[in-house]
Amino acid sequence: MADKSFNPFQMAQAQFDAVAEKLDLDAGARDLLREPLREYHTAVPVRMDDGSVKVFRGYRVQHNDARGPCKGGIRFHPHETADTVRALAMWMTWKCAVVDIPLGGGKGGVVCDPHDLSMGEQERLCRGWVRTLAKNMGPLKDVPAPDVMTSPQHMLWMLDEFETIHGAKFPGFITGKPVGMGGSLGRKEATGFGVIYTLREALKEMNIRPQDTLASVQGFGNVSQHAIDLFNKLGGKVTCVSCWDQQDQTAYSYSKADGVSLEELRSITNRFGGIDKDKARDLGYEQLPGDAWISQEVDILIPAALENQVNAKTVETIGKRVKIIAEGANGPTTPEADAFFKERGVFCIPDFLANAGGVTCSYFEQVQCNTNYFWPKDEVLGKLDQKMTDAYHAVSELARQKKLYMRDAAYTISIMRVEQACRQRGWI
Ligand code: NAD
Repeated sequence: MADKSFNPFQMAQAQFDAVAEKLDLDAGARDLLREPLREYHTAVPVRMDDGSVKVFRGYRVQHNDARGPCKGGIRFHPHETADTVRALAMWMTWKCAVVDIPLGGGKGGVVCDPHDLSMGEQERLCRGWVRTLAKNMGPLKDVPAPDVMTSPQHMLWMLDEFETIHGAKFPGFITGKPVGMGGSLGRKEATGFGVIYTLREALKEMNIRPQDTLASVQGFGNVSQHAIDLFNKLGGKVTCVSCWDQQDQTAYSYSKADGVSLEELRSITNRFGGIDKDKARDLGYEQLPGDAWISQEVDILIPAALENQVNAKTVETIGKRVKIIAEGANGPTTPEADAFFKERGVFCIPDFLANAGGVTCSYFEQVQCNTNYFWPKDEVLGKLDQKMTDAYHAVSELARQKKLYMRDAAYTISIMRVEQACRQRGWI
């Protein structure tokens, strides 16, 4: 995100345009689907602990709601831009469609660095963001969820503000709530586990046993930690992870040839997914530059941090052994890197398929809230596995039949579903 020349919305539009062209979509459908339906830009004044007022920029973008209310996370990040949120909202539309849940695509963001905000300031920011958008979101319109640097606690503050404004209980307003306060068991694991459910299926198709594979992961936050957990449980070994170092304002990779220990690293990681570098070195991890995660001699790469990480420059350094890239993050791979993967025959499980476990479990959370009956964790994860596995095989089957790159196959399914919904409603 720090690379100012990179525009995620232009990348999302270019991906859409290429598939729309192959599908021969008519001009009306293309015009509608390559732009958001609505977007809101807000100014959020927050009383800081020292008594001053600071105004934060907030966004909510609703890309398409033909298949159901918009759905998508709210991200706190210092480099957030309107175009990042537009891209993420558009990818949410395709994500909900590829797993066939009755929701559209939305996304929110606030330009801020929560590292620098007290919990009180973060609470007032959450409440302020909801106040500026309370008329434009809601269980039947647009439902937020956690994303980068936002947590179940943030979701609960946002819910409380929305319910205070509207004078009633609306547990379906937001997902990713704490368990016991309307949250679903399995939600915190859902995105990372979903990545691994799809990876497991890809390995089966390639006749590779997980226990014979090594992986390298970018990021050590919610998605990454749960992906590593399930990958380890399947027998796979992760030899390198990376994260952002707030103190040095740069990323580092941490490697261990015989495999990183999830529990050990968790014990030296802060709530933003930042690993304590001194403690990591003391535990025998080799500290490497931020981009080193991509050049490891592993079978599988799991980017699970931010967009634009596997790009024309970094992809050149990719290890020779890499066979699969399973995208936990949204938009980690640029079209230039996709071209490289196609040429090298690296199998890609594209972001809006691989990381759809989060929104799928959020949908389960809505269903549970609406019926006021909460399922055991095994039931949630069992249903999640089924949804992800079915979606993976639908995409993989189409890719095989039509000889498509997996990202293009996933786009084909999603675009056709959303286009059909728009057509049936008489919009196009
Ligand atoms: P998080 O805030 O929990 O963790 C982000 C991690 O990325 C942290 O470890 C951070 O240190 C690291 N990071 C940040 N910049 C980095 C850099 N330049 N190099 C290396 N590491 C860096 O966020 P998350 O919820 O795990 O989300 C990660 C990605 O997954 C994002 O693209 C997000 O949009 C996507 N995603 C998240 C969910 C979800 O349910 N949380 C769902 C779908 C997709």
